[in-house]
This record gives sequence, structure tokens and C-alpha cells, in this order.
Amino acid sequence: MAITPLMPVYPRSPVRPVRGEGAYLFGDGGEKYLDFASGIAVNILGHGHPHLTKAIQDQAATLVHVSNLYGSPQGEALAQRLVDLTFADTVFFTNSGAEAVECAIKTARRYHHHHGRPEKNVLITFRNAFHGRTIGTISATDQPKLRDGFAPLLPGFNVVEFDNLDAAEAAVDEHTAGFLVEPIQGEGGIRPASQEFMKGLRSICDERDLMLVLDEVQCGVARTGRLYAYEHYGIEPDILATAKGVGGGFPMGACLATEKAAAGMVVGTHGSTFGGNPLAMAAGQAVLDVVANDEFLEQVARTAERLRGALEQMIPNHDHLFEGVRGLGLMLGVKLKTDSRAFVTYLREHGLLTVAAGDNVMRVLPPLNIGEAHISEFVEKLSNAARGYEVPA
Ligand code: PLP
Repeated sequence: MAITPLMPVYPRSPVRPVRGEGAYLFGDGGEKYLDFASGIAVNILGHGHPHLTKAIQDQAATLVHVSNLYGSPQGEALAQRLVDLTFADTVFFTNSGAEAVECAIKTARRYHHHHGRPEKNVLITFRNAFHGRTIGTISATDQPKLRDGFAPLLPGFNVVEFDNLDAAEAAVDEHTAGFLVEPIQGEGGIRPASQEFMKGLRSICDERDLMLVLDEVQCGVARTGRLYAYEHYGIEPDILATAKGVGGGFPMGACLATEKAAAGMVVGTHGSTFGGNPLAMAAGQAVLDVVANDEFLEQVARTAERLRGALEQMIPNHDHLFEGVRGLGLMLGVKLKTDSRAFVTYLREHGLLTVAAGDNVMRVLPPLNIGEAHISEFVEKLSNAARGYEVPA
């Protein structure tokens, strides 16, 4: 048989981690890697964080799963905490980012349905966006590499240029339900939306009673130095999808909404077998215990400034390879003058884990609790590796 037992949908690298400790991963042959990928923005507390580990262990020994048919004190407590910390009035828990986006899409459509406008069911989305791998979320993007071979895809999305307010406004018509947007495109190449764009989308939604739906699956949960990236823009969404860092490595996500936006999400309209189980809720609480305070968020912002500064200082020494740094907080992208995938692969051989993204960008997504020594080690190793890298002609 030629096919591998693990369905071969990933170009799996020779890195085979079996253990993690703080910002480091260890391979099955004892190799040590400095992990500035964090499972693609997931392990925000690093590996084996004692508070998260204990919370998961204690909850696993008490109660792992019960059906959403029963009352959930664990779910109520975490939902209340997210409500207190954000724009939201209500929360639906999921197991992944794509599911959180699916719930967000359903909530936006259902809002208009609830108000007797079922024809308003199209979300305007943006070029190079990534919202997940379900049929719904690949239908929301224009990227052939995500969509090819999966037709028929779903109607109900209209893709326009990212960060172009005129294009977004021009696309609004009588079928528009709202906008679905990543405030900082992640997979698309670490591109932060401008202030005018995000504020402009908010105004259009206010004027026309549309839903502003943010996909903060990658940029949310303290990564930018605020609990959620929308806080940088001085606006609030109607609906927001969160996942990745929210469980610190435990698979969970959530769809957050205002009371107004969730008007149509009544009993029987949505559900999940596993979403919101007590084990996930314990992980979510433990993550918020650590990150949801000014001291931690300010520390992330300071760390980000140091890392960015160090990268910016290093870049001119390797101008055959690096073009510049972009991003917000600890969601950084180094734009390369060559293929980022090949360079990220090469860095793994030098003990550094980063992630490639679109537009030849190398994503730098470290755990949020790294220190000065990790930054120095990263930049020194990156610089040494860059010195020895021959940019293919
Ligand atoms: N949305 C964004 C912005 C993402 O970056 C991702 C994953 O990379 C997703 C949605 C999908 O999340 P998941 O892989 O957990 O389904």
C-alpha cells in the first residue's frame, strides 16, 4: 500500500517532537528546537506550563465530558469571564477555529433571518484570507490552493481586496449580511489591516445594520499585546471567532457575539457534541488566569518591541535575504526575498522553528511568555543561519 496511515495531506518535516519544555521542543532523537512557531500561534504559554498542565490534570481526574444537554457550570463560568473581558454578551464554545468561524457565519446570517431579511445572507470577505478548512470556510476565501477539487463550494461569499475600504463599500448590496475579516491576516502573510479600514467597516455596518464579524483565531488571545486585536482599532465587532491560543494547546475555540447579533441563535439552531466540555473549559480558564491581566499584556507588548527591534537591527546585515518586518505584537512576519517555505525548512535544520506564510513571509509566533534570553538566542541563530543561506537563483 502506498498511502501512509496518517492521511498524507501535510508536507511533514523531519522534526518529530516528543516533548516540550517552555519555549523548547525536543525531537525523538533528542534534538532541541527553539519553538518560535508555537504550534502556529497555539502554545501561547509555551510547552508544559505548570498552571495549564495542573488545570488539565485536575479536571481530567474530575470530569472530562458531559453532553451539552445538561447544565454546564464550567461553560457558564468561562463564558461569563469572556463576556466580562470583551465586547461580547454571549459565547458558543467549539473545538477548533474553523468551527468558531462557522458559528460566526451562521450567527450573522441568522441575525438577518430573525429580522425578516433572509435575503441578506452574503458575507463580504477578503483576498488571501484564511478562515479554516471546512467547506464553508474554504468557500469564504479566494485561494485556489484551499479550494481546488472541492467543488461545489458554498454560495454566500463575495471576496474583495483586503484593506481596501472603497472595494468593501462598493461590494455592499441588498444581499449583504456583513463583513468577515481577519484584523491581521495570518496565513496570508502577516498583514495588519489599517485603522481606516477597520473603522470604515465598523461605520458601514452601523449605517446599514450589517454584522462586523472578526476572525481572531490567529491574532487573538493576547498575541498582539491586547487580549483581542480589535482593541488596537478602537472598534468593537458584532461577532468574533477565537481559537488557537484560547486553550493554550488544548483544542478549543469560541464564537463570541453581542446580544443583538445573537438574536437568532435560539434553542435548536446550533450545537456541538464536544464543544464546551469541562476539560476544555479548565484549559481556557487556566490560559485566561495567566494572560488576561494588564501586567501580562504589557509584558507581551514590551517583549514584542524588543524582538521586533532586534530583528530590524539584524535585517540590513542580510539584505540578500530579508526585506523587512511587519505585524503587531508577537505576531510578526519577516518578508523574504526568496521562498519562505524553503528558508523555514532550512531553519529547522538549525534548531529554529518558525512558520511559512503567503507572500514569502516567515511567521515568527513565539510563546507569549518568552524572555530576553530567548530573543537573543533566536536572533543570533537566525542571523548565523542567514549568513550561510544561499538564496536560490
Ligand atoms: N481562522 C484563522 C485566521 C486561522 O489562522 C485559522 C488556522 O490557521 C483558522 C481560522 C482555522 O482554525 P482551525 O485550524 O483550528 O480550524
